[in-house]
Amino acid sequence: MRVSYHVAIHMIELKTAKELERMAKACQISAIALQEAGKSIEPGMSTKELDHIIEKKIRSFGAKPNFLGYGGFPGSACISLNDTVIHGIPSRDIIIRDGDIVSVDTGAFYDDFNGDNAYTFAVGEISAEAKALLDATNESLYEGIKAVKPGARIGDIGFAVQSYVEARGYAVVRKFVGHGVGRHLHEAPDVPNFGKSGHGVRLVAGMTIAIEPMINIKGEDVRTLKDGWTVKTVSGSLSAHFEHTVAVTDRGAVILTRA
Ligand code: MG
Repeated sequence: MRVSYHVAIHMIELKTAKELERMAKACQISAIALQEAGKSIEPGMSTKELDHIIEKKIRSFGAKPNFLGYGGFPGSACISLNDTVIHGIPSRDIIIRDGDIVSVDTGAFYDDFNGDNAYTFAVGEISAEAKALLDATNESLYEGIKAVKPGARIGDIGFAVQSYVEARGYAVVRKFVGHGVGRHLHEAPDVPNFGKSGHGVRLVAGMTIAIEPMINIKGEDVRTLKDGWTVKTVSGSLSAHFEHTVAVTDRGAVILTRA
């Protein structure tokens, strides 16, 4: 979850093997919190209740929810229903219903490092249309991850995601992109979900990036609500979001956000 920008202000920070081990812990906690959200989610629950469950899980490891207070964000997780793409603010007034798709984005800060991951859960019986979107978006994340290897470029990741979902008729959100992650939640480089093979920053071992396709059934355009956070599709169509934090190693990508 990061607004796209085109100036490389920050250096890309490479992590040592020792640092990757520490970061893997923060990522594991993020993944466990996300898994907990998936087990807990049920119709009738408010997104605020779900947020409390996630926060409690993260803190049970002595970690901190890294989204809480980030840029003033008021929740521990971003919880985004149906046509909400990302950055849904947990609220007592937003009730999860049977048939909803619920994107949950969780992150933990632990031992100086950040983890970041997301999954879009199906609540009860969802439509065939929604199911197909979830499957394609989740698959596109793994297509992106497969493109990660030393010597490949950032554009190879975006190309892999984009071609997978566009072949199925879906639209890639362009206004928000993935990002480097490490000591900071958002680091260089940007990791767009669209691009050209062979273009962009070259991947080298020690880089850690969050790959996070945000895919709409109809139209790439999104709008941010007056609350300053909630991002919805302009068309009103459903949107899905899946994310892993991965490390670039000599053997290719290693997914760090594993429960
Ligand atoms: Mg992210």
